[in-house]
Amino acid sequence: MVSTVSCGHCKAEAVLRLDYANLDLCGRCFTHLFEKRVARANREFSMFGNGDVVAVGVSGGKDSAALLYVLHKMSKKGRFTIKPVLVDEGIAGYRDVATKKAEELCQRLGLELTIVSYKELAGRSLDDIMVLRDERQLGFTSCGVCGVLRKDSLNQAARKVGATNLAVGHNADDVAQTFLMNALRADVKGFERFGVVSGVGGQEKFVQRVKPLVYNLEKECALYCVVNDLPFHLAECPYSQEAFRGQVKDFLNQVEQKHPGSKFNVLASFLALKAKLPVVVESERKAGICTVCGEHSSSSVCRKCVMLESLA
Ligand code: SF4
Ligand code: ZN
Repeated sequence: MVSTVSCGHCKAEAVLRLDYANLDLCGRCFTHLFEKRVARANREFSMFGNGDVVAVGVSGGKDSAALLYVLHKMSKKGRFTIKPVLVDEGIAGYRDVATKKAEELCQRLGLELTIVSYKELAGRSLDDIMVLRDERQLGFTSCGVCGVLRKDSLNQAARKVGATNLAVGHNADDVAQTFLMNALRADVKGFERFGVVSGVGGQEKFVQRVKPLVYNLEKECALYCVVNDLPFHLAECPYSQEAFRGQVKDFLNQVEQKHPGSKFNVLASFLALKAKLPVVVESERKAGICTVCGEHSSSSVCRKCVMLESLA
């Protein structure tokens, strides 16, 4: 007789194990746990509520697929509206496949997907920028430039759909990685700026950004997609190997394997430290408007425009 492992909550057959909690769960109880954590993040960080229009940044990947699906379920209770938005970086052979997955999920949920592109907003695709960078031997990394453009593009997309908030698919792993990256670079300003909610107290040009998946691990986002049969694109971005983040990610994965719960401990440390600092209120920051592109910026010319100028 084949013995099966029972769900620690309902005694149905377990389909996955959470090592850090020494817990086996069935798909239904895991889905419930995952969604409860999103509701908890929303409650604890006052992310969005009655009457809000939440732009949801989707990429075709697992994190944003899970995010869109959960928020769609929550929004059906009638408290807020969601509008998926996607940024097309212009990465041949990668973006087109991933976009199809995002479109498939939006269609399944009956949601209209708004797409903006680097080409349209910054005048160049990421592929074009990388060619120019190599030709001119410029010092920026693919993820460095992509991060700057993505932030700006998502913000513009959120404004385009009339959003009051922008939800992004950053999970517990992402937050723990960013915290460690800031520590490894002694980037204190980066630490101050980075939060589960950013752009508090908003500013006309900057839509408040929130991370509802902060209490779920990356692996759990993938499991949530599998258990709920959501379409997502698994392949990695061809430029991702350039990322410093990749090294920090590998390190955290190794530590987590040997010491389950470590990622949540890093996250808890980050949140405890942040709680001791005053909240950065956008309207009180020395934030202003870029004199070149008119977008939100903390200096007279934003990082995007400085970077684009070096490619002109
Ligand atoms: Fe952009 Fe880097 Fe992500 Fe690729 S891995 S999409 S270059 S941030
Ligand atoms: Zn600018």
